[in-house]
Amino acid sequence: MCRALLCDLRAFFAGTSGNQLTSYRAKCVALVSAPRGMAGPLRAVARCVAGNLVSRQVNVWSRANLGTAAAASHLDDDRKGLFALPGLHEPSDFARLARRAVARSDDLMRRLVSSGPSGFPHRSATAVIDDLDEISDTLCAVVDVAELCRNVHPDLRWVRAAENAYVELQGYVQGLNSNRGLYLALVNAQERHGAELSPEAARVALTLRQDFERGGIHLGGDEHARLEKTAGDVIKLGMAFQQNLSDPKAFGHMDVSWLRLGGVPAGLLSSTAEGGSRDTGFARVPLDQRTVSAVLRYADEPDTRRSVYLAAHSGPEANRAVLDGLLRARHESAKILGFESHAHFATSPLLAEHPDAPRALLERMASECRDRAGEEIEAMLRLAGRDGMDGTVRGWDRSYLIGKARAKACELDAAAVASYFPLERVISGVGALVDRVFGVKLTEVAMEPGENWHAKVRKLRVTSGDRGAGEGQEIGTIYLDLEPRPRKFPHAAHFVIRCSRGVGPDKQRPAVALVCNFGAGSAATLSHSEVETFLHEFGHAMHSVLSDTQYQHLSGTRCAMDMVEVPSHLFEYFAWDPAVLGLLARHRVTGDPMPREMIARLRASKELFGATDLQQQCVFALTDLEVHALDPATLTEGSVSDVAARVQAAHSLMPVEPGTSWELRFGHLVGYASTYYSYPYAKCVAADLWGKFFREDPLAPGAGEALREGMLRHGGAREPGAILRDMLGDGALMTDPVGAAPDPTSMLADLNRGR
Ligand SMILES: [Zn+2]
Repeated sequence: MCRALLCDLRAFFAGTSGNQLTSYRAKCVALVSAPRGMAGPLRAVARCVAGNLVSRQVNVWSRANLGTAAAASHLDDDRKGLFALPGLHEPSDFARLARRAVARSDDLMRRLVSSGPSGFPHRSATAVIDDLDEISDTLCAVVDVAELCRNVHPDLRWVRAAENAYVELQGYVQGLNSNRGLYLALVNAQERHGAELSPEAARVALTLRQDFERGGIHLGGDEHARLEKTAGDVIKLGMAFQQNLSDPKAFGHMDVSWLRLGGVPAGLLSSTAEGGSRDTGFARVPLDQRTVSAVLRYADEPDTRRSVYLAAHSGPEANRAVLDGLLRARHESAKILGFESHAHFATSPLLAEHPDAPRALLERMASECRDRAGEEIEAMLRLAGRDGMDGTVRGWDRSYLIGKARAKACELDAAAVASYFPLERVISGVGALVDRVFGVKLTEVAMEPGENWHAKVRKLRVTSGDRGAGEGQEIGTIYLDLEPRPRKFPHAAHFVIRCSRGVGPDKQRPAVALVCNFGAGSAATLSHSEVETFLHEFGHAMHSVLSDTQYQHLSGTRCAMDMVEVPSHLFEYFAWDPAVLGLLARHRVTGDPMPREMIARLRASKELFGATDLQQQCVFALTDLEVHALDPATLTEGSVSDVAARVQAAHSLMPVEPGTSWELRFGHLVGYASTYYSYPYAKCVAADLWGKFFREDPLAPGAGEALREGMLRHGGAREPGAILRDMLGDGALMTDPVGAAPDPTSMLADLNRGR
C-alpha cells in the first residue's frame, strides 16, 4: 500500500553495501504506490515505523491504494486543506478523516458482502468492482496523504498525527485483505458475471483476486493458519534484518588513526569521531553504511580502506541467522501457496512470470559486458597510476579508483558543470521538455491557504497544451519539495497523493509530490547527477499524471513491479542528450548555453565504468533470485554466503574477498525479495524505447505521443507484455524457454557506444 518508498538507490546503496554499491546510478526506488508484486515490508527500509505496518495482507489494498480526494464528497468540510485534501486543516483532522474513511469503507463493504452469491443479480459485476475500487480510493485519500505528511512535514505535531492515522488505517486495511466476504463477492462477480466487465474492470478483478489469494484467503483452516504464522515471521525477520543495519551495537565500529584517514572530507570525519578523540589519536569510525561508503570512496590510504571494508563486510553477523530464517519462512509461505520457491511466487504475477527469465537475462548481460568490464578495470588502474602494479582491483579499491579515474578521464569540473544547472532553469527546462515531448504545460501556481507544508515547496499545475482538443484543460498537480531540511525524507522519491480515475463522466485529477534533497538555498545549482535524478523522478510523475485509467487500482505507477521503473529510466536519457541539455542548461550568471565540448565530455563520462556497474547489478539481482530459490532443507550456516560468493565469482570481475559476506548488509534482499532484477529490466526496456522513439530526435512530438499512448496512459490496466509488444514489436521480449525478459541488445549497445 502506499509505501512511499525509497527512491534513490544510490543514496541507499551508498550505505547498504559500501563500496560495492556506490557507483550505481539508478535512482529511484519506490513510489508511494507500491507497484504490483512489491509485497514485502519495504517500508521498513526507509523508516522503522512502517515496518510494523506492513504485512502481506496489505497487498491487495496497499498497492491499490494510492490516494484520492474523492472521499471528500462525504466530508462535512469540503474546504481544501493540507496537500489540497478537503478537511485537513489541523493535525487532529487526520484522526477525524481516518474515522470517516473507515465509516465510508464499512458502508461499501457491507453492501458488497450482502450482495454475495444471493445478492446477484441485483448488483452487477461492474458495480462490485466499482465498489472495491471506491473502498481503496476512500482509504488512500487519507493514507497516502498521511504517508507523505509523516515523511516531509516539518512540524512534529503533524508528523505524529499522520503516523497515528497511518497505523490505524493500515490495521483496518489488513482486516479488509482477510475479509472472506469481500473476497467471495469478488469471486462471484468475476466467475458468474465476468463477461459483462470491461477489459479494465476485468483486469482489476483479476489482480485483486490474485492479491487476495497470494495472501492465502482461499486456503483451508490448517494451511491458512500456517501461512499466517510464516507471514508473521517474514515481517518480524525482515524488520530485524533492517534493524541490524541501523543499530550501532549490531554493525559495530573501528578505531582508526586520524593519520590514516587522509582524503576523507572533514565534515564526514567529524561525524565519525564520536567516541574517539584527537587526544587519543584515534577516530571511532562506525561501520554503518554511510560512513563506510565515505571512507571507501575518499580515504587515500589503501590499508585504511582495506581494514574498514573487511570489518564492515563481515557483518552484521546477527543478520546471518536472521537471513536464513527469513529465507526459510518465505520458502514455506511459497510452498503453502503452491509455488516451487519464493522466487517463483514473487515473479509469477509480473512481466517475468518465472525466475528463469530474469536469471537468463542477467547471466547473459554479465557475460556480454565482460570484455568491456576488463577494459574498464585496466583503465581504472591506469588512470589511477597503478598500471604495472598488481593488476587486480580489490573490493576496497573500486569506489576510490572509480572516483579518481572518472575525474581524471573526463577532466570534468563538477562545479563548472553545475554552474549550468541553476534550479530555476532546470525546472523551467523540464517544463519546456514535457511541453515538447507530450504537449502538456507546467505552470507554477500559488498554493491555497493551508495547502502547503513548507515555504520552499512549489506547486505545478499540469494542463493540456495546444495539441488536439482540450487546450488548457487541467490534467493534474505536481508538488516539488526539492531542498533538504532536518527530519525530511532523505532520499529522492515520487509520492502519490491522489490517483487519477474516472468518477462518473468526470476524472479525478492526479496529484503527486517529488521529494528530493538538492543543494541548499534558492540560488542552488544542481550537479548533473541531481539533474538526472530529477528527470528520473519526473518520469514517475508523468506516469502518474498522464495515466488515464478508469480505476485507481491500476493507475499510473501501479503497474507491475518489473515495469514501474521503465518511464523513469527512459527519462534519465534526457539528461545526456544535447538537444535536451539545450533546454535544461544555462549558465547561472551569463545565461550562456552549455559549451559543446562540455556536453561532449559529460557524455563521454556516462558509461565510463558502465560494464563494471552492470556486472555488479547483475550479481545483486542474481543473488537475490538464487537465495530465494534455495531449498531450506539444504541450508546450512554459511550456505547463503556461499551462493553470494559463487554468483560474484561467476558473473563479476571483482574478486570475492574471503571471509566477507556482503549479503548480510544488502537490505534489498528484504525489500525486493526476488524482484531486484526490475532495475536491469527497466534499463533494457528504456534503452529499447529510447532507441526506437527518441534517439534521433528526442523532442519530436511523435515520440512522446507514442510513449504516452502506448504505455503511460495504461498504468497497470494492460498486461505488461502486451504493452511492450505493441510498442516495440513482437521481438521485444524473450520468452524462451519460460517467462518474459526484455532484449538487452540496445542496452548493451549503449554501454559499448563510447568504446
Ligand atoms: Zn524510480
